[in-house]
Amino acid sequence: MNTNHKKTDDVKLSPRAVEFLQTYIRHKLMVQSRTDRTCWYMVDIAAKTCECEHHRKTKAECFHIEQAIKFRLHQLRTKAEQAQSKCPSCGSIKTVYEGDRERCADCGR
Ligand SMILES: [Zn+2]
Ligand SMILES: [Zn+2]
Repeated sequence: MNTNHKKTDDVKLSPRAVEFLQTYIRHKLMVQSRTDRTCWYMVDIAAKTCECEHHRKTKAECFHIEQAIKFRLHQLRTKAEQAQSKCPSCGSIKTVYEGDRERCADCGR
């Protein structure tokens, strides 16, 4: 499909794709404690670790890790939906990128 011989590093991502990736690699999230509303724990989604006492003792997946994963999945779904915006002219979701510009793959607008 790719006919040019550029290195992978030279591939220009669309601003939306960059935003999507940045969200995806940001694994760390603050989750509020259920019992103490002033208390927040740092959860690392990738490593599945949490700062709370329960996790430190048991190493088990705690409420905070569960919440963080749920939140991140919701965010990713929303982002994916936004990135798949429909063409205003023909309603197609096929988008091609020319530099920074987005173009509809079906009608070319
Ligand atoms: Zn926890
Ligand atoms: Zn179109």
